[in-house]
Amino acid sequence: MRLLLVEDDAKLGLELQRALNKAGYATDLSIDGEDAQAMGEIEPYDLVVLDLGLPKRSGLEVLRNWRQQQLTIPVIILTARDGWEDKVQGFKAGADDYLAKPFQTEELLVRINAVLRRCAGQNTGDLRYQKITLDESTQTVRLGSEDVQQLTGTEFKLLRYFMLHPGKIVSKSELVEHVYQLDSDKDSNVLEVYINRLRQKIGSELIQTRRGQGYIFGKQH
Ligand code: CA
Repeated sequence: MRLLLVEDDAKLGLELQRALNKAGYATDLSIDGEDAQAMGEIEPYDLVVLDLGLPKRSGLEVLRNWRQQQLTIPVIILTARDGWEDKVQGFKAGADDYLAKPFQTEELLVRINAVLRRCAGQNTGDLRYQKITLDESTQTVRLGSEDVQQLTGTEFKLLRYFMLHPGKIVSKSELVEHVYQLDSDKDSNVLEVYINRLRQKIGSELIQTRRGQGYIFGKQH
């Protein structure tokens, strides 16, 4: 999944970006409101973590502008500890969740997981599909009760994206856009190699190739 992190505190921003990348979210960092708004309009993000106090344009304004343009991308706002008015204004502007500063990175991660899962119409808890369970904290996949496979970073990102979009045709370019950050080397030929390795771990029948269209995870709707 691809995330936009909007945070003007340089130290916190870099720390969070590192933690989010480590958790398997390809995360772009923006440090002001104008830039953030433009990035949210151009790039296909799966979720935004949005600080409210920002240079050039406030987080609330950015959020209102996105919603006015019918951008439905899920947004978690970062508010001040006592800022109940911020929370109210944030929800009215279209936020999906909030987190008050200071917070533990662990809490941000579980909130991101919960919002993404809710948006994909899945229940909370581990991501599941038939006999497959994805453990997002250890980046492993469980097949049945005994068989646990360790995934590489890219395999994990791909499988999470597939499991949040079961039964849908996902094109190669969509996968590349949602699995890699802005500044990374986006080679869609390498993708096939990763998909094949993933198939070896979870069973090839689960990821079908649709010639000229892309891939389908699980049964088609
Ligand atoms: Ca700030």
